[in-house]
Amino acid sequence: MPTAPKTFKAPWAPRQAVSADRNKDHDKDRRKRHPWRNWYKLVAWKRIRARRLAADPLCVMCLADGVTKAAEIVDHVVPHKGDRELFYSYANTQSLCATHHNRDKQRMEARGEVQSRTFEPEIDVSF
Ligand SMILES: [Zn+2]
Repeated sequence: MPTAPKTFKAPWAPRQAVSADRNKDHDKDRRKRHPWRNWYKLVAWKRIRARRLAADPLCVMCLADGVTKAAEIVDHVVPHKGDRELFYSYANTQSLCATHHNRDKQRMEARGEVQSRTFEPEIDVSF
């Protein structure tokens, strides 16, 4: 019975896994440089996020412009930059739509002009 020929791979041919390995290394490198990226996966953050979206389901920046738009992103008012306390502070979060988060907020952060907001009293998120 004929069998399919074995694939021949020249020793000098590039390995298939090279680019996948490289991506993995790149991710690992990014995690090492920004370990807080993983904080977004943690239950504590997911609770804060869910609570903020439940409390403020609309984008606060759209509301300020008189527009009603559902929020999709929970943003840190003061950029946490790896500061655990700022990251996990419910009072430091706000609901934004993707447009405001990606365009306006990042532009403001890049310019260093982050909007200041009166903090609400800290609420216990351990429910
Ligand atoms: Zn918005």
